[in-house]
Amino acid sequence: MANEPILIVEDNQINLMLLKTLLSFKGYTIRTANNAEEALTVLDTFMPQLILMDIQLPGMDGLELTRKLRSNPKFQQITILAVTAYAMKGDKEKAMAAGCDGYIAKPIDSKTFTDIIAEYLRHRQSSVNL
Ligand code: MN
Repeated sequence: MANEPILIVEDNQINLMLLKTLLSFKGYTIRTANNAEEALTVLDTFMPQLILMDIQLPGMDGLELTRKLRSNPKFQQITILAVTAYAMKGDKEKAMAAGCDGYIAKPIDSKTFTDIIAEYLRHRQSSVNL
C-alpha cells in the first residue's frame, strides 16, 4: 500500500470526493482544500509529495497558486499536477509554465487515475515527465 502524502486542491465537491476516495483506497495520506487560501493553510502543517491542483478555483486560481508555491524553496520539490476540465490547446503549456510537472484532464478516468499518480510518485526523484 502506498502512503505518500497528497494534497488535493479542488472547489467542486463531487470531484474532490471522487479523487479523495480513489486515492484513499490506495492508502495515500490525503488532505484536501477547496481553494488556494485553504491550501496554503494546510501546507503550513502538511508537506505533500504531490499536489493535485484544480486550475479553475474561486479567487486565486491554480496557476497563480502554483507560481506562488514555486517561488518558495520549501515547495519546489513537490510534484504538482494540474487538473482541468478545459482541455483546450495551450492549457498544458500554461500549466507547465506556471511550474506544474504534469497535466490531467477532467473528467478523471477512474480506471487509470491511480496508476498515473503512482507513476508520477515513482518518477518524481528523476523528474521524468509523463
Ligand atoms: Mn474548479
